[in-house]
Amino acid sequence: MSTDYDIVISGGGVAGLTAAAAMGSAGFSVLLCDPTPPVTAQDQAGADLRTTAFLQPAQQLLDEIGLWDRLSAHAAPLQIMRIVDAGGPEPEPRVVREFNAADISSGPFGWNLPNWLLRREMVARLSEMPNVTFRPGPGTASLLTRESEALVTLSDGTRLRSRLVIAADGRNSPMREAAGIGVKTTRYGQKALAFAVTHPIPHDNVSTEIHRSGGPFTLVPLPDRDGLPCSAVVWMEDGPEALRLSRLPTADFEAAMMTRSCGLFGPLTLATDRSLWPIITQVAERMSGERIALLAEAAHVVPPIGAQGLNMSLGDLRCLRDLALAAPATLGDRAMLEAYDRRRHAEVRLRAAGIDALNRASQISAQPLRDLRAAGLSALYGAAPVRKMLMQMGLGARG
Ligand SMILES: Cc1cc2nc3c(=O)[nH]c(=O)nc-3n(C[C@H](O)[C@H](O)[C@H](O)COP(=O)(O)OP(=O)(O)OC[C@H]3O[C@@H](n4cnc5c(N)ncnc54)[C@H](O)[C@@H]3O)c2cc1C
Repeated sequence: MSTDYDIVISGGGVAGLTAAAAMGSAGFSVLLCDPTPPVTAQDQAGADLRTTAFLQPAQQLLDEIGLWDRLSAHAAPLQIMRIVDAGGPEPEPRVVREFNAADISSGPFGWNLPNWLLRREMVARLSEMPNVTFRPGPGTASLLTRESEALVTLSDGTRLRSRLVIAADGRNSPMREAAGIGVKTTRYGQKALAFAVTHPIPHDNVSTEIHRSGGPFTLVPLPDRDGLPCSAVVWMEDGPEALRLSRLPTADFEAAMMTRSCGLFGPLTLATDRSLWPIITQVAERMSGERIALLAEAAHVVPPIGAQGLNMSLGDLRCLRDLALAAPATLGDRAMLEAYDRRRHAEVRLRAAGIDALNRASQISAQPLRDLRAAGLSALYGAAPVRKMLMQMGLGARG
């Protein structure tokens, strides 16, 4: 026997949880499953210690689907993005440029939130929706599609029939593989350390990206913690160096952070554990197949630069939701899924290529190339129309 849903979502990471809220809000019956129950407290084992900076278009979507009211009280606004080149012989700032959201908008660029907290609030939102079933425990095990429907079997043997399957099951997506959709992967031999710090100098809602070599060191504002200014940090380095840093005793790690951050915020105090993430670029050959749509990291993985990863994913979701609402009776048919691929794939490839170039520029260690990078930053910043265009592109307001 099989149970029918309009939509089966494979994967309850931040993207899958948001997709369930969006499609549930749109009135579809949804089943969401994930073999790993979400960790919804910061101090619990397995908590996702990264944060997500939601840019303006993503925040609008969260608002439309009833999530923003739950999240706004925990969010730190990002008003200014500061880029610092510290690529000279000494680790000190030599070019500092600030991109102010006020130049292009009456609101901030975005808002930063911890990922574990997103999971907590998203799970709570889903429990309010009678047409959404969240089943942590079993994962999707197999997929059979025909022109008219998809048949999904879960790892506990449950059989589900749906009009659309959304694969939001991460970079090694089992549903993408079951649909026979390949990926192109680029490796950089690089890892990111993610953690939070407190510091004596306030961040004033400025996000700061410091470039030297190995990758950027980025501080993104968070609300104060224990009365002290607090930031989320993503520190990218060549793999062996990132591993070494992740294992340093706290005092040595804090000293290394002080040097790498050029002391811009004073001494940084580690406020959470350190987590380590491999950095790749990966783009699927297509965003859809018969009765299946790929979403988020199942479709694209990019280095964490410019807060593009999950923001691109919410761009996918908005597109999918709007196509579904435009023709609910033919949800998941060939025309809808081809339109989804057409609208998203080119944009995703373009953004992935742009982030790949920025990451390579940030990794370089040869002094003449670092000098060239600093000159490039000054030149791009110096031309006001280019500066504004870059900011709009970063937000996703321009392709
Ligand atoms: C250090 C770092 C910082 C970042 N910062 C930002 C940022 O500021 N802004 C931004 O937009 N993006 C950011 N990103 C990117 C963002 O974190 C990711 O895009 C996002 O977390 C990926 O979410 P996901 O739901 O696609 O994948 P995942 O979180 O990997 O979720 C996939 C889920 O699928 C489940 N799954 C696996 N197999 C099955 C199965 N068979 N059946 C069902 N479920 C299954 C897994 O258990 C998992 O829960 C950052 C990334 C990194 C590494």
